[in-house]
Amino acid sequence: MPFTPFHFGPGLAVKGMGAPVFSWSAFAAAQVLIDCETLYYLLHKDYPVHRFLHSFLGATAAGLAATILCLVVVRAAGLRRPRLVMSLLGSTSIARGELTSLGILLGGLAGGLSHPFLDGIMHPDVRPFMPWSDYNPFLGLIGVAQLHLACVAAALFGVVCVTLWRGRNA
Ligand SMILES: [Zn+2]
Repeated sequence: MPFTPFHFGPGLAVKGMGAPVFSWSAFAAAQVLIDCETLYYLLHKDYPVHRFLHSFLGATAAGLAATILCLVVVRAAGLRRPRLVMSLLGSTSIARGELTSLGILLGGLAGGLSHPFLDGIMHPDVRPFMPWSDYNPFLGLIGVAQLHLACVAAALFGVVCVTLWRGRNA
């Protein structure tokens, strides 16, 4: 399966720690955008399936593309439903982080840059430092089960933190 929900866990943990300045939606958008590459090559049975977008260089570009995409969506929503967007911006830290340009930029970049690292641990065809090097220093750093467990733990940590932000209602 090219799209892994496990990757959303670390993003949720960062959202939990920096809710007002981090967009988890942009983080997730960058993750999905990068795995469109895997889906494309899997469908065409063309290997390796992890290529440019799974390098730090390509992932940064994908993160910026996700940022622009999310900014366009927020801007369009702001034009169509200005009152709703303004009230969301003023409502909670969680919503502010999802809607401000800084939050979207940080979320998009974090989503992009974390992807080659997370995929690099478990996929031998990931080359995080291409086009400069084919070496993947992350491969096998920890086992796949441990990686997924860490992602789930990060998600749970994030959910607890986000709940605390909500409790403060700030
Ligand atoms: Zn991937």
